[in-house]
Amino acid sequence: MQRCWAPLPAGRPKFLRLKTQLQDALSHAQAALAPVSECVVCIDALASMALLPCGHRCVCAACAESLRGGVCPMCRGPVQGSVKIFDS
Ligand SMILES: [Zn+2]
Ligand SMILES: [Zn+2]
Repeated sequence: MQRCWAPLPAGRPKFLRLKTQLQDALSHAQAALAPVSECVVCIDALASMALLPCGHRCVCAACAESLRGGVCPMCRGPVQGSVKIFDS
């Protein structure tokens, strides 16, 4: 029991840094793989539409239609159209 709590070898700090890097990479990967979030406009339907030309996928089909000619709620860029995103 006592032995288990002995000071760790000098390699420990390196390991901690590696662990941090791994967690960082993991969180980025999880963000990329995150399930589709809901529409930022109606906060109800899934954000299945990407706005063009900025490409923000942040609204549902109905809200994408109403945003046409307006501005993207994410970047305030002009919305010239939208495209449905299909999950594989
Ligand atoms: Zn919506
Ligand atoms: Zn945008």
